[in-house]
Amino acid sequence: MNSEQILEHFTETNALLEGHFLLSSGLHSPNYLQCALALQYPADAARFGRAISEHYLDAGIETVASPAIGGLVIGYSVAAAMNVRFLWTERQSCEMTLRRGFTLKPRERILVVEDVITTGGSTRECIAALEANGGKVVAAASIIDRSNGTADVGVPRIALASLDVPSYAEGECPLCVDGGRPVKPGSRA
Ligand SMILES: [Zn+2]
Repeated sequence: MNSEQILEHFTETNALLEGHFLLSSGLHSPNYLQCALALQYPADAARFGRAISEHYLDAGIETVASPAIGGLVIGYSVAAAMNVRFLWTERQSCEMTLRRGFTLKPRERILVVEDVITTGGSTRECIAALEANGGKVVAAASIIDRSNGTADVGVPRIALASLDVPSYAEGECPLCVDGGRPVKPGSRA
């Protein structure tokens, strides 16, 4: 499955939205990837999961972990393809934490999986939470890289496809200059 086929799938499933969006990173963008739409059929999620897992056949991955909620479906799919366990981190009063009784053995080898990486913030926070619990995050992966390859998460990172969509800091956004107001993705029907 090459990058082109992946982006085609996103377009076909309306996972690539157009408008004026306020991203969770605080940046504004004329595009938003609603990855959940691209992953709603388990067979599609499984295909993406296998494609990511193929990069780590010999990496000795013991566990796949994802930051909730965005990473849950793809992370689970990667873990299923690798036949390893899956767990997630989630925010508790803003701070990314490992909850629900999940524990790690010392230096447990973990692959962190996200749906989309824009700034890498969620992945970095997920990695920090896992390492605070004794894990060893050896790599990170996402379906889509929106960072032009620039997001540094502190470990080697791959993405199945790169999508160059502009994003702007508030105050530098041409869509705002045109008088539009950004919407939070998912907040408009
Ligand atoms: Zn704007």
